[in-house]
Amino acid sequence: MSPDRLHQYRARRDARQTPEPVPARAPRRRLPPHAPSFVVQAHAARRLHHDFRLEHDGVLVSWAVPKGVPSEAGGPNRLAVQTEDHPLEYAAFEGTIPAGEYGAGEVERYDHGTYELLKWDAREVKVVLHGQRLEGTYVLIHTGEANWLLHKMNASP
Ligand code: MN
Repeated sequence: MSPDRLHQYRARRDARQTPEPVPARAPRRRLPPHAPSFVVQAHAARRLHHDFRLEHDGVLVSWAVPKGVPSEAGGPNRLAVQTEDHPLEYAAFEGTIPAGEYGAGEVERYDHGTYELLKWDAREVKVVLHGQRLEGTYVLIHTGEANWLLHKMNASP
């Protein structure tokens, strides 16, 4: 783990210009036991997309999902492009990122909750989400560079 996982996040933002949280300090991992959190934010940037974020190692590991996080199982895989790690405080963020700033546009929380971790390695992340709208097992498969495929799995019979 790099000394400051939020370096890239901070480098892209000016705390005086954006209402987003920009913590000055490096993140510290929350001590177990606690259920890790997830959030999905609808982000009306140049194109509307979902940002899917999973708490891991003291940050929100993040993917942009152009077609949105599916609530139903069995659909086609959705592209999920990994973006910079975000601070845990970002899970509560909703608001307008001003024109001209990185990610300019409206951010609304679509869902949030906790998750169970089934697997997390460089090739595959598998979790069970417990949210208001999203419930069930999701898998992310790393296909190269920043690209992953997101899939909601069928409940086991
Ligand atoms: Mn976004």
